[in-house]
Amino acid sequence: MIPDSTSKKMPEGNRRPAPSGEFAGRTVLLVDDDPAHVQHVRQGLAPHGYTFREARDGAQALSAIREHRPDLILMDVEMPGLGGVEVCRIVKANSGEGGFGFIPVILMTARQAAGKVEGLELGADDYLVKPFDMLELGARVKSMLRLKGLQDALIEKNRELDRANKELARKREELLALSRTDPLTGLSNRRYFEERLQEEFARARRYRSPLSLVMLDIDYFKRVNDTYGHPFGDEVLRAVAQVTRARLREVDLLARYGGEELIALLPETSPEDALRACERVREAIEGLQLEHRASDGTKRPVRCTASLGLASIPSPSLQTMEELMHAADECLYAAKGAGRNRVRQHEE
Ligand code: GH3
Ligand code: MG
Ligand code: MG
Ligand code: MG
Repeated sequence: MIPDSTSKKMPEGNRRPAPSGEFAGRTVLLVDDDPAHVQHVRQGLAPHGYTFREARDGAQALSAIREHRPDLILMDVEMPGLGGVEVCRIVKANSGEGGFGFIPVILMTARQAAGKVEGLELGADDYLVKPFDMLELGARVKSMLRLKGLQDALIEKNRELDRANKELARKREELLALSRTDPLTGLSNRRYFEERLQEEFARARRYRSPLSLVMLDIDYFKRVNDTYGHPFGDEVLRAVAQVTRARLREVDLLARYGGEELIALLPETSPEDALRACERVREAIEGLQLEHRASDGTKRPVRCTASLGLASIPSPSLQTMEELMHAADECLYAAKGAGRNRVRQHEE
């Protein structure tokens, strides 16, 4: 024989059967000023295995919602103070992500038609007129919990999608940056430089603003490679790239143009300022404290210099991008011819 107390608990503990236990454990908030009615509803819903929270009035209901985030609110319309319709309106007004989220509300009322319209218009998801049939209540509650489950899943999917989209955008940015970068020096690569040169040249022409172009080539670099090996040559190249980058402004574009040749674009820079920038760079490269460490541990200081060619627009003799590039290149070779480790500037 089953003792009385056990048989009384039976319905609540019985959470296994699939159809009735589908939403077992979900939190249902019961709001009613009539304790007998609360009890009645609890008993009717007990076989489904829900977790119940109770509130006696609207104010209690709001704090219970805040604290427990129920999956469903079953609420009396007629309560002293804050009524069910007002609470429902507050819940629905705060259904955004920063608020309570979506919580279905079933209103219960003794009043008939008028209240029904009012309840639905104010956003209640369903409506029951007291006294109601427990089977009906059970079915309505279940359908609302199903709705809640779907809604939550949708929100979660949207969040996942959002995260995936952000990740994708980040990867796209990464890939773009990578496609513009020279792997050895970390400077921009030639392709990106040429893209930007087109834009900057067009802009400078349109606004008649100054634009300077610098070509830089390391002096006797072949000798560095021949004497100390290619890996050390790479190190020197990186050091030159770094120190050059550091001597230019943030807005100046510096790229590796070829083997040991760098190219820089200095927007909004007059020929005089560009010349000063070139001198700064040249001195910085000359001042690099490079040191070769042989496999036997011997260290040797290594000197490194570079030659620079500079051309600027506006200039009557430089009308096209190609002419600007050519002028800077000619100046670079003039610098080489004049003994290297110097800057040569295009003159009209
Ligand atoms: P100049 O003063 O006339 O410019 O003499 P140079 O020896 O620097 O000029 P040249 O063009 O004869 O030699 C450039 C050398 O740069 C040849 C090549 O081996 C070396 N080089 C080009 N790219 C790289 C690189 O990525 N790493 C290393 N280590 N060497 C490179
Ligand atoms: Mg009431
Ligand atoms: Mg060289
Ligand atoms: Mg060269």
